[in-house]
Amino acid sequence: MTAITLAAPLAGWAMPLTEVPDPAFSQGLVGTGMAIDPTVNELRSPCDGVVLSVHRAHHACTVRAASGAEVLLHLGVDTVGLNGEGFTAHVRDGQAVKAGDPLISFDMDLVGSRAQSLVSMMVIVNDGFTVDGQSVNRVIAVGEPAMTVHGGSVAGSSPSAAASAAAASPAADPGETAERTVALRIAHGLHARPAAALVAAAKAHPGAVTILCRDRGANAKSVVALMGLGTVLGDRLTVRASGPGAQGVVESIAGLIDSGLGDPIVEDAAAAAAVTAAPAPAAPVPPAAEEIGPPFAPGEQVLLKGTIAVPGQAVGTVVRRFRSAVSVAEEGAGPAVEEPRLHRALDSVIAGLGRSAERMPEHAAIFQAHRELLDDPELLDSALADIRAGKSAEWAWHRTARRQADALAALADPRMAERAADLRDLEQQVLTVLAGKAPSVGLAELPAGSIVLADEILPSDLAGVPAGQLGGIGMVHGGPTSHAVILAAALGVPTVVALGRQAERVPDGAPAVIDGNRAELLVFPPEDMLAKTRTAVAARAARREENRRTAGEDCRMADGTRIEVFANLGRVSDAPGAVAEGAEGCGLLRTEFLFLERQSAPSEDEQYRQYQQIADALAGRPLVIRTLDVGGDKPLPYLPLPKEENPVLGLRGVRVGLREPELLRAQIRAILRVKPTGACRIMVPMIASPSELRAVRRMVDEERGKLGLAEPIELGAMIEVPAAALIADRISAVADFLSIGTNDLTQYVLAMDRGNPHVAAQLDALHPGVLRLIHLAVMGAETYGRTVAVCGGSASDPMAAPLLIGLGVTELSATPAVIADLKAFIRTLRMEDCRRVAEAALGTDSADEVRRLVAETWPAI
Ligand code: PEP
Ligand code: MG
Repeated sequence: MTAITLAAPLAGWAMPLTEVPDPAFSQGLVGTGMAIDPTVNELRSPCDGVVLSVHRAHHACTVRAASGAEVLLHLGVDTVGLNGEGFTAHVRDGQAVKAGDPLISFDMDLVGSRAQSLVSMMVIVNDGFTVDGQSVNRVIAVGEPAMTVHGGSVAGSSPSAAASAAAASPAADPGETAERTVALRIAHGLHARPAAALVAAAKAHPGAVTILCRDRGANAKSVVALMGLGTVLGDRLTVRASGPGAQGVVESIAGLIDSGLGDPIVEDAAAAAAVTAAPAPAAPVPPAAEEIGPPFAPGEQVLLKGTIAVPGQAVGTVVRRFRSAVSVAEEGAGPAVEEPRLHRALDSVIAGLGRSAERMPEHAAIFQAHRELLDDPELLDSALADIRAGKSAEWAWHRTARRQADALAALADPRMAERAADLRDLEQQVLTVLAGKAPSVGLAELPAGSIVLADEILPSDLAGVPAGQLGGIGMVHGGPTSHAVILAAALGVPTVVALGRQAERVPDGAPAVIDGNRAELLVFPPEDMLAKTRTAVAARAARREENRRTAGEDCRMADGTRIEVFANLGRVSDAPGAVAEGAEGCGLLRTEFLFLERQSAPSEDEQYRQYQQIADALAGRPLVIRTLDVGGDKPLPYLPLPKEENPVLGLRGVRVGLREPELLRAQIRAILRVKPTGACRIMVPMIASPSELRAVRRMVDEERGKLGLAEPIELGAMIEVPAAALIADRISAVADFLSIGTNDLTQYVLAMDRGNPHVAAQLDALHPGVLRLIHLAVMGAETYGRTVAVCGGSASDPMAAPLLIGLGVTELSATPAVIADLKAFIRTLRMEDCRRVAEAALGTDSADEVRRLVAETWPAI
C-alpha cells in the first residue's frame, strides 16, 4: 500500500468537505477529500501526475497521481453553468504535470459574483484509496501538505483503467445484459454532481455498467470517466449493464438520468424535447462514397481551386500520394505476441524520428514533439489494455491513436487541435511498420520538381525532403497552418490546401502548374504556359531573396505614394514571422481561431492576453482586430444558433454579435484593455447597414465608459456584403475606416459559394463586377475621407495590387509569406498607370480579360 501527500492546490481557508455548500460534495458522493475557500486565482497541481480530463466548462479537472489516485479539483460550487466564462485552462487532457504547475486560472470577481460559492474541492474519486490527515480549519498556503492518500502503487497500476477494461470486456461480465437509451435533460450535462449521483447508483450493481454517448463509452462507476464524456443537454445516453440484475439496474439508472440526477430538468428546451420524443437514431451510416468522376484525360485542361497555404509557383509532374484506408484485423495472437510487436514498431518509428531530427535540425522540436507523443504512457497503457483484451497490435494502436487524435482535435487551443494531424501521422507510421514495411522515407526520393497530390500531407512525409527537391504540394483537405504546411513553407514548396476531391482525378504523371499565390492547380496546361511559368519561377526565386533584404522599409510607390502593406494574422504565433517578412501592421486578425474548436467561449481575460501578445509582437505597429466572424459555415458548438437552410446568407459576422451581445461586449472589453491605448482598431465583419455599426459603436462607447477610457478607439466596417459597397458613403458616416473582404464580396456578387469546388474556378475577385463594387466603396469612403483597405485574398494576389491601388485602396493586408515580394512590386508601380489599368478593367467583360490587361502592362508578375 502506498501513501502520497497532496499539496494544497490553492491558498485560502482549508475546510472539511462537510462544510461545502453542495450536498454531492458534503455528503461524500463525489469522493473523499477536503475543500479550500480560495484567496488566489490560480489552481495548481497538488501532485506530479497526468491530467486525465479538463472539463469543457474549464471549472474542474482531474489529475491522476503516480499511485493511480484520481484527484478531482473542482473550482467553486455551481460553476459549470458559467460555461467556461471566467476560467482559463492551462493544461490539456493527457498532459503530464508536476506538483505546483498551474492548471486553471479564474477571474475571482466574475466567478465569485456569478457562482453560488468559490469554495473549491479536492477529492479522490476512484475506488481503492482512502484519505486522511486533512489539514483543515486553518489558513493554508498553496503547496503546503494538505492531505494524505493511501492506496494503489507508485508503479502506476490504474484502478480506473482496470475498471474500464473490466467494463468493456464481455468476458468479465457473463450472463444477463440489458440496455436502455434515454435523453439527458439537464442543462450542463454530466458534471460532477450528477455524475456522482450516477456513480452511486452504478456502484450498487456488482456487474459492469457503462454509459455510451456519441460513440464513446464510460465506466458508470467513475466520476472522471462520466465527466470525460463531455455530455450536453439533449444527448442520448445508453445505459448498458451486465451480470445478474442487469435489467433492474439499467431501468433504475435510466430513470435517474431521466429525472435529472439531482439537477433541474430543462422542460422547455426545444432541443431536449425533440430528442426525447424522437426514436433512437439509427447507427451512423458512413456517407456513400462521393462520385468524383473518372481520371482527367491527357489534354483535358483542368483548373482546380483551393486555399493559399504557401505562396509561389511551380511547374512539374504530378505524383499521387493518396492514402488508401488501412484495414486492420481486430483479433490478435495474444498479448505474448502482440505486446512485443507493438513495442518493436514504436521503437522503430522512434528511431526514424531521431534520424529525421538529424536531417532537419532546425525542425528537431517537431520531431521531439512526435517522440513525446509516442512515449506518452497514457497512449501506451490504453493500447496495451486493448492488446490484453485480445486485440491485435494494429487494432489497439489504431484505436488508441484515433481516440487521442479526436480528443486533441476537440481541444480549446486550435494549435493543439492541429497536433491531431501529428497523431494521425504517427498512427500511419506505426501501422506501416507493423505491416512489415520500412518506416516512411518521406518524399525525398521523388524526382526533383514533382508536384505531390495527397489527401493530406503529414509532417513525416516531408521529414527527409531537402529544400529545392519538391516542386509543389496540393492537398484535398488540410489547413493552412498545420505542421506540414510550416515545414513546406520552410522548404519553400508552393502549397495549396483544400483543393477538394476533384484533385483525386488528376492522374500520375500529368504535367501541372501549381500556383500558391492564387491557390490554383492547373492540370494539362498548354505547352506555352508551361514554358512561360518555368521561366517565371526561376526569375522569381532569385528576386524573392533580394526583396527580403528591403522588406522592413516602408512601402512607397515609384512616384512616392505611400501604400501600407499589413499582414493577416490568425493567432499569436503568426505575428513575429509576419513582421520579419516586412508587415507594417496587422490589417485583419481573424479572432474566430480563438473561438472555434472549443466547448465554451474564451474568457475576456484569455482574449485580452492573446491580443496583448500580438500587439507586443507588432511592437507599436497597428493591429486591426476583427470581431468574431462565426455563424454560417463556422458554427460554434456552444452558441445556440438556429439551423439554417442557407447559412452563408444567415446568421454570420456582426449579426451573431448583435444577437449575442455579451459575447461581443466581452470581446470589445478585451480589445479595449490592450496597452498602449490606441494600439488596436476594431473591425466589424459582414456589415450590411450603418445601423449595425452604430449598434456596435454604442457598445464600444459604453464599455469604454465602464473601463474609464477617455481615448476613442477606431471602429471600422468590413465591406463584404454587396449592399455595404453600394452604400459605402452612408457606412462611412459611422465608420472610421473601411476594409474590403474580397473573399465574401466575390462570393456574394457572383452568387458562387466560396466553398463549392464546382464553381471555384470562376470565383475570381478580379471579375469586373467585383472591381466596380470596390470602386463604389472607395468613392463612398471619400465622402467622409475614410481610408479603404483590402484584407481579402486579393490583397495577396500580385495581379490585384495595381488594380486595387488604382481604384484608391491605400492599405493591403496580405498573407505574411507574400509581403516581401508584394512590397517590392508596389515600389515599381506608378499611380497613373494603376489608375489607367483599373479604369480599363472596369470596362471589361470578365476576370480573364482583366488578368490579361494586367499581364500586358506588368508582364513580370
Ligand atoms: C473576406 O471575406 O475577404 C475576409 C477577409 O474575411 P474571411 O475570409 O475571414 O471571411
Ligand atoms: Mg469574410
